[in-house]
Amino acid sequence: MALSDCNHCWETPCSCGYEYKSWPLDKKLKLAAAILDVTPDKLKNTILPAVKSADGVSGSLCRGIGGTYFFRVYHDHEKFTDYELLHSDLNITIEDSDAFFYSTNVSAVLDHSPETLLNNTQRDMT
Ligand SMILES: [Zn+2]
Repeated sequence: MALSDCNHCWETPCSCGYEYKSWPLDKKLKLAAAILDVTPDKLKNTILPAVKSADGVSGSLCRGIGGTYFFRVYHDHEKFTDYELLHSDLNITIEDSDAFFYSTNVSAVLDHSPETLLNNTQRDMT
């Protein structure tokens, strides 16, 4: 018979978490779900992300308030998911006839077409 459940904190049950590090994920979920008074499946769906490949998915690179970019994927006309960009070197092919590069010796910018920018400027002035 062991003196304690944990050879780190020596408490029964372990209060430091060391004893649970070697537990399989489903056993940890059952314990956490019991403590939080929810079902293990509900807890699992809340804390663990659903993972699927993004390769070949079409969406829009959007610039939000404050200049932060995100990737928007539409599920239908009104429903979409905005993904925070964490990928460090994502390969992109531009499929937008309104996208134009503007380059000088000191800067390079990707923006809307000159016509779109002119129309927006004229609209803003009225
Ligand atoms: Zn412990």
